[in-house]
Amino acid sequence: MVSRVIPVHPFDLVLFGATGDLAQRKILPGLYHRFEVGQMPQDARIIGTARSDMDTDGFRQQVRDAIQKFASDFNKDVLDDFLTRVEYVPVDALGDAGWKDLSGALRDDVVRAFYLSVGPNLFPGIAKRLQEHGLATPDSRIVVEKPFGNDLASAKGLNAGLRACFEEHQIYRIDHYLGKETVQNLMALRFANSLFEPLWNATHIDHVQITVAETVGVEGRGAYYDQSGAMRDMIQNHLVQLLCLTAMEPPSKFSPNAVRDEKVKVIEALEPVSQSDIARGQYRADKGDDSYLDHVGNPDSATESFIALKAHIGNWRWAGVPFYLRTGKRLRARESEIAVFFRDPPHTIFPNVGPLRGNVLVIRLQPDEGITLRTTIKDPGPGGFRLSDVSLDMSFAEALGGDVRAQDAYERLVMDVIRGDQTLFMRGDEAEAAWAWVDPIIQGWEERGDRPSRYDQGSSGPEDALMLMHRDGRRWRQIGG
Ligand code: NAP
Repeated sequence: MVSRVIPVHPFDLVLFGATGDLAQRKILPGLYHRFEVGQMPQDARIIGTARSDMDTDGFRQQVRDAIQKFASDFNKDVLDDFLTRVEYVPVDALGDAGWKDLSGALRDDVVRAFYLSVGPNLFPGIAKRLQEHGLATPDSRIVVEKPFGNDLASAKGLNAGLRACFEEHQIYRIDHYLGKETVQNLMALRFANSLFEPLWNATHIDHVQITVAETVGVEGRGAYYDQSGAMRDMIQNHLVQLLCLTAMEPPSKFSPNAVRDEKVKVIEALEPVSQSDIARGQYRADKGDDSYLDHVGNPDSATESFIALKAHIGNWRWAGVPFYLRTGKRLRARESEIAVFFRDPPHTIFPNVGPLRGNVLVIRLQPDEGITLRTTIKDPGPGGFRLSDVSLDMSFAEALGGDVRAQDAYERLVMDVIRGDQTLFMRGDEAEAAWAWVDPIIQGWEERGDRPSRYDQGSSGPEDALMLMHRDGRRWRQIGG
């Protein structure tokens, strides 16, 4: 199956933070791939900016190196061609230097987008300067990276700073999980098929498990991460977004605001989480590998590198159905999935086969994006009637043809910005609603001085996380199983 590529309109994309890690590792290689497949028109331009004093040739060399290192593949001639669309203008986001040059570099008759791949402390200042210099035209777009604040108050501050200069329909808040193919497929699965939706409720679903497990530690981001932790860095955005797409009502149409209206309703229906329904952990030292505390250089840190919690959505559809969320670093495997556990069959007609296990629909985000449905069948062959579980497995890589390169989330999201499609971006009220749910949980453990328990590197997290499930008579799916 070959995916159709529809070229976008000509654009000027101004990339703030163009010399930074995210720009070099994800955004610029993503743009290259879109150019390679013909989605970026010939007269599109990428204007990199940062404070570093460099000319366009110097930046092009940097971009060439980044693409050679980080793009999944590249063709030298196409890369040469792509680089002719790349320019560089040094700009100090908080000073005066460079803004006039940037203004002179922009065209009036093309889509104009500003991608802020810089720390969130710079968002309001850059927005203000774009406005002061007349660059924030009514049709232009501004893209901001995560984290969108570190609590409700700071998120409101960022929203106020951005909205002072741009309308909400111009603001694109990135959560790159929404750009993943499988996450969008979750919407297709639910709303383009009639099979699942009648079963998608508390009558038929026992519980849902959402797991985002990482094998990496805090790597070079120790200082940042220790101010944040798994709750702020992962639950508030990525896992809440996955929960929303799993739990939301069918929107009346597939339009940005219709979809986001339904997501906000889910977040607003999230009930407060009791502290006894939360397990937090920090990875301990292991065979010469340092502990979380060593990695962040803070022996007194009470920040969690792992969290598991049980959430409830207080609405008609989901009453009584727990959503278990779990994420952590230095775990057994790198794996992200949503697992929907259907209720056990109410009665078995098969004697002597033991209790029947219900169906489980697993939506795998990584690795190997795809969907699996656990079903029970008869063991083949004569010699009695025995049952066993098998998985109906749909790997997207196989289903879509082995030669289709997996698109990175950033590729899709940047093109959506140019197309003016906000469906896969968080709206301001959505980000605030998620913080309003998360804030009291964090305040609770800060006020009591709770400390995370320890877990082994390469494990599934701390013992308390297992107990959280066992208490409810359920089990986590095995990470890396
Ligand atoms: P980074 O490597 O520290 O890069 C920051 C960039 O901002 C550099 O290009 C820097 O260049 C520029 N910059 C800093 N201060 C500036 C100023 N006053 N004026 C103009 N440019 C300035 O950061 P990053 O890892 O790329 O992260 C960028 C954003 O993406 C952050 O919000 C981060 O939270 C988010 N994010 C990153 C990742 C990731 O994997 N890296 C993942 C998700 C989200 P100069 O020093 O030359 O000015």
